[in-house]
Amino acid sequence: MSGDLIESFLLEPATGRAIPLQRGQVLCVEQAGNGQCLDFNAYNLHDYKEQFHSGRTRGLHGINPRVGDHLWSAPPRERPMFTILRDDVGANDVNFSRCSAFLYEAHYGFDSGIAHSNCHDAFAEAIREWELTPDDVHDSFNAFMTTRIDSGRLRIDRSVAHAGARLELLAQMDALAVTVCCGGDLGATNNYELKGLKIEVRPASAAEQSCLIDVTFRHQRTIADFANATIKADRELRRAGDYRPHWPWRQAISTCTRIDVPLSEDEQAALERIAAHPRFRHMSKPDILRFALFQRLEVRHRAGIAEALAKKEKIT
Ligand SMILES: [Zn+2]
Repeated sequence: MSGDLIESFLLEPATGRAIPLQRGQVLCVEQAGNGQCLDFNAYNLHDYKEQFHSGRTRGLHGINPRVGDHLWSAPPRERPMFTILRDDVGANDVNFSRCSAFLYEAHYGFDSGIAHSNCHDAFAEAIREWELTPDDVHDSFNAFMTTRIDSGRLRIDRSVAHAGARLELLAQMDALAVTVCCGGDLGATNNYELKGLKIEVRPASAAEQSCLIDVTFRHQRTIADFANATIKADRELRRAGDYRPHWPWRQAISTCTRIDVPLSEDEQAALERIAAHPRFRHMSKPDILRFALFQRLEVRHRAGIAEALAKKEKIT
């Protein structure tokens, strides 16, 4: 650790926080439990229209960015906003969009009075502190998220992030970093359980400072190059004085209860064998049991949705 911590807090499950960083500062994210995805957005602190772009990042570094790769801003600026300095897990994704209230209703049938906790709404609530709107949320850099492409379809696998695993991002520009602790507990993304994330901001060490770069190409645009530079007259971001975060799903999360699952002797023996396997060394037996149960339910539910859609197709 170099220098004093500038910021340190626990990001609670299904919440988000927007953090201003100066060029040369480092954002550190650490697993508080096992297998929690971080959804990440970023804005130029002095021009909110310059935003992180998963597409450009994907195009330049592939679908799973790793140490040394940059998180790029969108065309037409196309500049490195952050650089991955440290990555203990090696499971980052720039294919999936952030989860949303729509997704949980359309895909999982979650239609209660309060929307299911989700990353889009958490992003929107976090950036409201900086007078930004839900329309300013963009596709996220998804850290600690195990994904792959299977026959052209995007897939999410069990998270392999273990407690204490860290991701560190060097700010290449003054930026508003928006951290969201993904609220998805109905899929494999977070191993069907929401955990917190430890967040820190610190200055870069002298060695890390050497990773600061200036990427300059003739055709990287600035506002000065725009035919119409006044889409929004006031581009400087400022914090709203009366900002109070509100997380409507917090009560629902805090009232989750534990349940006992009786196992037969054979089931207990199977659980012991799985728990002894090195692949599952970071998961407790309750973690493994919960994952197996919910994955089975998810597969059945998906089959049900496919069947329902097929019937609807025939009717219409
Ligand atoms: Zn999410």
